[in-house]
Amino acid sequence: MSKMKAKQIQSVRGMHDILPEEQKYWRYIQKKVENLLEYYGFERISTPVLEPTDLFNRSVGETSDIVSKEIYTLKTKGGDMLALRPEGTAPVVRAYLENGMNVRPHPVKLYYIDPMFRHDEPQAGRYRQFYQLGLETIGDGSEAVDAEMIFIAYKLLDSLGLDGYDVHINSIGDQNCRPAYIKALKDYFRNRSKKLCNNCKNRLKENVLRILDCKEEGCKETVKEAPQMMDFLDEACRLHFKHVLEFLDEAKIPYILNPYLVRGLDYYTRTVFELIPNTENTSQQSTLLAGGRYDRLIEQLGGVKTPAAGWAMGMERIIIAMKEKNVHVPELGMKPKVFLVQLGEAPKRKALPLFESFRKAGIEAKSSFGRDSIKSQLRIAHRLGVRFALIFGQKEALDDTIILREMDTGVQETILLERIIDEVKKRLKA
Ligand code: ATP
Ligand code: MG
Repeated sequence: MSKMKAKQIQSVRGMHDILPEEQKYWRYIQKKVENLLEYYGFERISTPVLEPTDLFNRSVGETSDIVSKEIYTLKTKGGDMLALRPEGTAPVVRAYLENGMNVRPHPVKLYYIDPMFRHDEPQAGRYRQFYQLGLETIGDGSEAVDAEMIFIAYKLLDSLGLDGYDVHINSIGDQNCRPAYIKALKDYFRNRSKKLCNNCKNRLKENVLRILDCKEEGCKETVKEAPQMMDFLDEACRLHFKHVLEFLDEAKIPYILNPYLVRGLDYYTRTVFELIPNTENTSQQSTLLAGGRYDRLIEQLGGVKTPAAGWAMGMERIIIAMKEKNVHVPELGMKPKVFLVQLGEAPKRKALPLFESFRKAGIEAKSSFGRDSIKSQLRIAHRLGVRFALIFGQKEALDDTIILREMDTGVQETILLERIIDEVKKRLKA
C-alpha cells in the first residue's frame, strides 16, 4: 500500500468559505437589515439559484457584461439551458409574475439576501460567488420611491457603522428620450474611436452607453467631454429627476450628480445611483451598492407595464468596509451562566441529559465534553465568566449529587442532582 496522502481538493477559484469566526458579521448585518427593512414594509423573498438562461437574456441584456461574459450556464440532461443566477432583480420579477403577486396591494416591497454567481476576475472584494442584499419596490412610479430606496440604503450603511459614502446619481431617461442621446453619443465616440479600447469599439456598435462605464484610462479621458443625458431628458423625465433630488435634499441625503453614471444592466430607466466611499484612494471594488428605476422590466418579462425600482449591495464588500472601520460586532453565542465540569466515565454518561435539562430550564450552560483535567476545565469556566461551576465527578455520579461552586468566592456545596436546577435558579435570582 502506498503511504501517499490523497491530493486535497480545493474550492473553485473565486469562491470562498465563510468560516465560523466570520459568521458574526453575517448575523449582525442580517439582524440590522431585518429591523430596518421590515420597519419600512419590505418582506423577504428567496428564489432558486438556477433560472432559465433566457430570463437574464431578456432582462439584463445579451450585450451586457453580465450575460455576455460573466454568466455561468449549464445544459441539463433533458436539454434545458439554465443559468446560475448572476443577479437578483430578474428572478424576483419572475417570481412576482409567476406567483400572481401583481394582484396584491401595490407597491409590493421585497428584499433578498442570496448568493450570486459571476465569472468575474477574482480579487479583493470581487468573487465568483458572492452574496447580495437586494431591495425591490414594484408598482409605484413616483419620485418618492426612488428617494426612499436611496434613503434606506444610506440609513442601512449608517446603522452598520459605515459613514463617508456619497450617493452618485444620474438619470438615464427612458425609451422616449434616450434614443436621441444614444445617437449623440454614437456621433461623439465615432469621431474619437481611435482613442477607445477594443471593448469599447464593440460597445460603440452594440451598447454605446457602456462606454461611459469603461475603466480604461483612454476611454475615461474621452468620456470627459461626451454629451450628457441631462441635456436630452424629456419634460417628464426631467421633472421626475428634479423631484427625486428635492426629496433627497429634504431628507438631507448628500449626493453627487454624476452625468456619466450608467448601470451595467439593460433594464434601467430614469434614476440610477451608486454608493461610493468619498475617500481619495477608491478602488474599483469599493462601490458598495448600486441600483435604480426599471420601469420596463416587468413588461419585458411578460407582465403588464408596471413601474419599479431597486438596488443591490455586495455583502462581502460591506464586511470588508466594516473591518476597515473597526466596527464593533458582538461575538456570536450566548453568555453562559453555568459551566459543567465532568470528570471520568460515569459522569460523562450522565452529563448530556443534565446539560440538556439546563437548556430546557432556560439557563445558558457550557461544558467541555473532552477529557480535560479539573484545572483546565475550571480555567475555561473562568474565562467564560460564568457564575457557577458544577463539578460532576465519579463520587457525585454514584451518589446522584453534584458540587456547586461559586466562581467569585470559590465556596463549594454539594447538592442533590434532582435539586440542582432549582438551586441554580434560586441563586441566579438572588
Ligand atoms: P462592478 O462594476 O464592481 O463589477 P457591478 O456594476 O457589476 O459592479 P451590480 O451588478 O450593480 O455591480 O451589483 C451591485 C453590488 O454587488 C456591487 O456594488 C458590489 O457591491 C456587489 N458585487 C458585484 N459584483 C461582485 C463580485 N464579483 N464580487 C463581490 N461583490 C460584487
Ligand atoms: Mg460587474
